[in-house]
Amino acid sequence: MKPDLFEAPDYYNIDDLLSDEHKLVRDAARDWVKRDVSPIIEEYAQKAEFPKQIINGLAEIGAFGPYIPEEYGGAGLDQISYGIIMQEIERGDSGVRSTASVQSSLVMYPIWKYGTEEQRQKYLPKLASGEWMGSFGLTEPDHGSNPAGMTTNFKDMGDHYLLNGAKLWISNSPFCNVAVVWAKNEEGRIHGLIVERGMEGFSTPETHNKWSLRASATGELIFQDVKVPKENLLPNKSGLGAPLGCLDSARYGIAWGAIGAAMDCYDTALRYSKERIQFGKPIAGFQLQQKKLAEMITEITKAQLLALRLGQLKNEDRATSAQISMAKRNNVDMAIKIAREARQMLGGMGITGEYSIMRHMMNLESVITYEGTHDIHLLITGLDITGINAFK
Ligand SMILES: Cc1cc2nc3c(=O)[nH]c(=O)nc-3n(C[C@H](O)[C@H](O)[C@H](O)COP(=O)(O)OP(=O)(O)OC[C@H]3O[C@@H](n4cnc5c(N)ncnc54)[C@H](O)[C@@H]3O)c2cc1C
Repeated sequence: MKPDLFEAPDYYNIDDLLSDEHKLVRDAARDWVKRDVSPIIEEYAQKAEFPKQIINGLAEIGAFGPYIPEEYGGAGLDQISYGIIMQEIERGDSGVRSTASVQSSLVMYPIWKYGTEEQRQKYLPKLASGEWMGSFGLTEPDHGSNPAGMTTNFKDMGDHYLLNGAKLWISNSPFCNVAVVWAKNEEGRIHGLIVERGMEGFSTPETHNKWSLRASATGELIFQDVKVPKENLLPNKSGLGAPLGCLDSARYGIAWGAIGAAMDCYDTALRYSKERIQFGKPIAGFQLQQKKLAEMITEITKAQLLALRLGQLKNEDRATSAQISMAKRNNVDMAIKIAREARQMLGGMGITGEYSIMRHMMNLESVITYEGTHDIHLLITGLDITGINAFK
């Protein structure tokens, strides 16, 4: 892979709107990605393996629980810092960002928000330091966009719960130490349970043959009469709103993360087009290529402003789920379109692992599908503005 020469585009001087802390957080994450992710990521994506050696670095830049209070080992940062960290990590690779998103928003967040003080003390510091890795089990083989239909269930056996069922497409599952699992009780109400590796009847087979997020481990969570201690139930929120609250936080991070992937594709294509000579001049001098680049930077700038405003609303605890859906949908769609255009600008070189673009493009096919598909987010906006549910 070529050396990482990334220079972040900032066409509207958005830096001026960031605090000194935001910039410090960003520079630390950016430097770390250049030093520890870019040199190895292509190799790991090619061999379809998560690079476990970067876990410590992710913890050091605050990627595990950026907004979780420091008393629980988190970085205690605001929502904009969280977004910036996700942007910088995804600039390197969406799979690495997925690992951080799951750990922060889908595992630490529910334990922090819905858990007991004992659960917070037991799990959060270990998850923040990366000593333990977590996964989040919501999707099932027969229930993806419609998680309310889930069949994974638990029964009250007096001194413990008995958990049965299966989850599919679970990021981090093959190596997770703990899983936050969503299951129905005997009354059909959804609750979160913390399941630990080593509990009898709990297995996590890996899903192979992915063409996307190859540097992120994906798998199943299988529960066959797993005895879960009663103290592992998250008591403070139940119903579908509980997992959806986690998804809001993760989707917000994705809205920022996708900008990182888009910036990397744009920056790579801009540099390549100024160096690549055809018909006696740099291809950047042809109107068709300039149209692509001009449209890319326009869309990136719009996405940056959308994410920043959403971050301000999140900081004030005013961002709605529908606003988050709009940003996730728009920014991922923006990134995947830029990746496709940028790949074409590199001609044949664009399909090789010498450049990051094709990897970003394939990764974004997962990002546009998980945490609510492109279509589902559109339906969320439609419901929000009309008041009419078009899901069914
Ligand atoms: C790499 C990867 C990692 C993932 N990680 C996790 C994880 O860590 N934890 C987890 O729980 N899940 C995870 N997921 C699962 C992901 O969230 C689901 O794939 C996603 O929600 C879509 O579900 P599905 O794949 O079953 O598609 P389906 O729900 O079967 O959808 C198929 C198509 O039908 C469309 N569709 C569905 N319903 C409607 C409707 N009402 N109206 C119009 N169109 C509709 C969808 O938009 C989509 O285009 C991951 C997925 C991938 C690919």
